[in-house]
Amino acid sequence: MASVLKAVRGTRDLLPPETALWSRVEATARAVFSRYGFGEIRTPVFETTDLFARSVGEETDIVSKEMYTWEDRARAASEKAQSLTLRPENTAGVVRAYIEHKLGDTGMLQKLFYLGPQFRRERPQRGRYRQFWQIGAEVIGPASSGSESPIRDAEVIEMLAALLNELGIQGWRLEINSVGSSEDRQRYNAALREALAPVKSQLCEDNQRRAETNPLRVLDSKAPEDQHIINALPKIADYLDEASRVHFAAVLEALTACSVPYHVNHRLVRGLDYYTRTTFEFTVPPSEQDGSGLGTQNALLGGGRYDGLSEMLGGPKAPGIGFAIGEDRLILALQAQAAEVPEKKLDAYIAPMGKAQNPAALSIAKELRAAGLRIEVGDGAFRLKKSFEAADKIARRIVILGEDEFKSGFYIAKDFATSLQRLFTREGLAKALKQKNWQINDPLIRSSDPLKQTVGLRMPALMLLADAKSALSNEELRAFLALALGTPLRDLDQEIIDNMTSQLAKENLVIGSNLGWQITASGRIHLQSEMRKDETSENTD
Ligand code: AMP
Repeated sequence: MASVLKAVRGTRDLLPPETALWSRVEATARAVFSRYGFGEIRTPVFETTDLFARSVGEETDIVSKEMYTWEDRARAASEKAQSLTLRPENTAGVVRAYIEHKLGDTGMLQKLFYLGPQFRRERPQRGRYRQFWQIGAEVIGPASSGSESPIRDAEVIEMLAALLNELGIQGWRLEINSVGSSEDRQRYNAALREALAPVKSQLCEDNQRRAETNPLRVLDSKAPEDQHIINALPKIADYLDEASRVHFAAVLEALTACSVPYHVNHRLVRGLDYYTRTTFEFTVPPSEQDGSGLGTQNALLGGGRYDGLSEMLGGPKAPGIGFAIGEDRLILALQAQAAEVPEKKLDAYIAPMGKAQNPAALSIAKELRAAGLRIEVGDGAFRLKKSFEAADKIARRIVILGEDEFKSGFYIAKDFATSLQRLFTREGLAKALKQKNWQINDPLIRSSDPLKQTVGLRMPALMLLADAKSALSNEELRAFLALALGTPLRDLDQEIIDNMTSQLAKENLVIGSNLGWQITASGRIHLQSEMRKDETSENTD
């Protein structure tokens, strides 16, 4: 037997019903972004390797060990072989597109959002995958468009708070810091190197390397044995120049003005080289008990300002700020916080009662779907019981299609929540299925009363019911119908009455006297109880 193939380690399939939650998250994000004036951008899933090396940074974990990179062979003499990489993040692609399409020439602030898979060869664990999804946005433009203003930082962060609240994420925490200008960082890096030199040998292997290559990254480290050293290192706040300090204070002031709670975290430098000034992260409480379901991977999203990125990529000066939400983690947090996607059952299940009814079932389903209803179609090979079971699982109602229904022009639908059954003409079906709640006194409704239910189940079933046999006049049939439908005759739709009576008139009606009612030779309908009798006389008025 051939071996079974599986999804690659660190990748996974997302299936219904979970994907409904993904759709809800994405729809909410789109709605929120649109309220803040963002438009969607879609960039390619792979780019030249150079793009990420120059923006994210050669010394970062992402570029040095996590990228999916390959040598793409030339296929024609006119092509050159080149090194390509699956995007590990999307900001670099957006800024490349900004430069390539000269969006800066518009002079306008560009507000762009994206949504899509990213790829990093990380050690897979809960909340950390090799293909994961990010929802992100960037605000970028020439300085004259206001792109450098602290109000942009605060607006983006306030938008994120609004999005998380709208999604129902509980207990989120915003951590914020400023990593200053690139000159500030050079000075700070020098200070860090100096402070790290005497203690370097006490650090873990990774941090020893970082202390050499990129000391800022030591601050990111979660290695428990190094924390006492890291906590004692100089703080970047003491190395910010006046402009960066003013910028940071203005961001915090605006956040306070919009009541967005924040915590300044001096160690928050983030793993990507292109950040300047504001950096931030939203987390949820780490433990299962506190409800994130994320363990240590509790950062839901991260972002920051990248005022020099465009120039690093050979573009014009284009200050910007952006963020990326880890959608996988957002979903895990929502699931752990028991955000149920309300189960959305289909409007109806069409159950053909024989293979011959399959084409008609499909054509009725087509009509109903065109009318905006959500419909599933069964199979004429299913028995009635199986159709009911299948329908009950996925739909609110079942519509039964037998040969008799086609002949009579009537369809019977049952509502599972109330057990009410109704009869319809083909034209009336869509309208009735759109009606949210069926009431017992709706015209043509069946009650759950066993007698009426039997009567209502299928009109032709009446003919199989019992022992007494009687040929009825048209009037008698109308009276009988009123009884069967439990509705005063005057409330019945004339078209339905005419259609059904003429149908019934063609048949020899067999009456179910064993169920406690019968039609006499005079055409009156008698029920066992007095109450029923009263009803009958009313109905036959
Ligand atoms: P970054 O692009 O590294 O700033 O990450 C932004 C967000 O993406 C993080 O806060 C995570 O929520 C998410 N993220 C990053 N890497 C992964 C991964 N390997 N698997 C799942 N989510 C990730």
